[in-house]
Amino acid sequence: MSEGLVTVSYIGATILFILTLGGLSNQETARRGNIYGIVGMTLAIVATVFGPAVSGITSYIIIAVMMGAGAAVGIILARKVEMTQMPELVAILHSLVGLAAVLVGYVSFMGDSGTYTGVEKVIHEVEIYVGILIGAVTFSGSVIAFGKLSGKIGGNPLLLPARHWLNLGLLLITIWLGSWFLSAAEAHSASAFIPLIFMTIIALAFGVHMVMAIGGADMPVVVSMLNSYSGWAASATGFMLSNDLLIVVGALVGSSGAILSYIMCRAMNRNFISVIAGGFGTTSGGSSGGDEEQGEIQAIETDEVAQILSDASEVMIIPGYGMAVAQAQHTVNEITQSLRKKGVNVRFGIHPVAGRMPGHMNVLLAEAKVPYDIVFEMDEINEDFPDIDVSVVIGANDIVNPSAQEDPNSPIAGMPVLECWKGKTTVVLKRSMATGYAGVQNPLFFKENTRMYFGDAKESLDSLLKAIQSD
Ligand code: NDP
Repeated sequence: MSEGLVTVSYIGATILFILTLGGLSNQETARRGNIYGIVGMTLAIVATVFGPAVSGITSYIIIAVMMGAGAAVGIILARKVEMTQMPELVAILHSLVGLAAVLVGYVSFMGDSGTYTGVEKVIHEVEIYVGILIGAVTFSGSVIAFGKLSGKIGGNPLLLPARHWLNLGLLLITIWLGSWFLSAAEAHSASAFIPLIFMTIIALAFGVHMVMAIGGADMPVVVSMLNSYSGWAASATGFMLSNDLLIVVGALVGSSGAILSYIMCRAMNRNFISVIAGGFGTTSGGSSGGDEEQGEIQAIETDEVAQILSDASEVMIIPGYGMAVAQAQHTVNEITQSLRKKGVNVRFGIHPVAGRMPGHMNVLLAEAKVPYDIVFEMDEINEDFPDIDVSVVIGANDIVNPSAQEDPNSPIAGMPVLECWKGKTTVVLKRSMATGYAGVQNPLFFKENTRMYFGDAKESLDSLLKAIQSD
């Protein structure tokens, strides 16, 4: 493949990736966006493998075997993974991007025998140093995020004493190691590996510390932030390999992840820097901070729920993580259709951090073919609750917790929530009185106009559907 053809393919792939991001920003065009991404990635791989950059390599068999092995693992994982495990899968995949950046950095440094001279050499060494740094932070941070999201590591933040000073100290040492590395590399001394290895260890420790310090309800920001880091790590790899497409694609992922982090922070009313510095989600000394119960609850049975839903004119469904666990989205769609046939206006209220990954609920509802025009973001419908007859909370907890507004000591204080308690009746589907991800009890369950509909969401909704249909 000639250099010109590779350039054209790279430009084509870049355009396709931009179209992918545009497509993914909307549910109706998301599928098309995905297809653009697949075509763009295929084009990029073909152009890279057969382009001049690796044409000197005769080991196409190795490339084919490695790609085959990677594809096989990818296909097995994608087939096996449950929708509820998607967030942790995404986290562990981010870690691979970080690991790749670290490995490419070391290989680049070891293989750099006189390709670059003068200023170019210094620039290349800075690229290697920064690339390994970002890669190592992304790698270890993502592994810890994987542990936290899969429940292998506790969700509570680990707060070391004087952690901000510790981070500052690590940053200063990293800068000092960087200048040591540059001068040693300039002198072609093998001792340049010493600062490089120390920096890698520090970056790995920093990644662990950073994510361990973020807890509870602030985890969504970590997920989107590591998404952004993985983009910058890919971009740094692109610089090290002098691959323009990788630089551009990395920058696209990095900046879209940064925008997503900003959106998640805004959704949670958090300051980005404060979340990264750690410490939010930590003060659980408030009155509703623990998981103690706060009064009487009123349970409700299937027939009664079916009755109040059939009698209602305005119904708001609020899905949360429990709907994903129970895989109840298809039954939710059937109930929605049945109620709409009865003339009930059913809408969905989606909280930006519902579930365990950005857009989690939208993906599930789209999979179940819930019409897009009845699915609303929190900001669009939060003021409508006083006119709602019945809100149905399906396996959601933190996102409908009034203590976010009422209790300044709550770990989720200040986070905007769906104000369903302002409606006439709220029916909450969950299995027990257990807390949600943030680990705080929810005063909503004890309100006078709340009814607890206990059981697995799928089983409850299956019997509810039957009751509504036979009504
Ligand atoms: P929560 O985790 O607050 O609550 C989920 C509730 O679902 C639980 O209280 C649980 O109660 C119930 N549940 C679980 N399984 C079932 C089931 N099979 N049937 C019925 N109910 C079930 O979820 P929310 O969606 O309300 O809030 C999301 C939380 O996750 C927020 O704190 C957010 O910050 C955090 N988070 C979000 C991420 C994102 O990107 N969206 C990423 C990481 C964290 P019970 O056990 O009694 O059934």
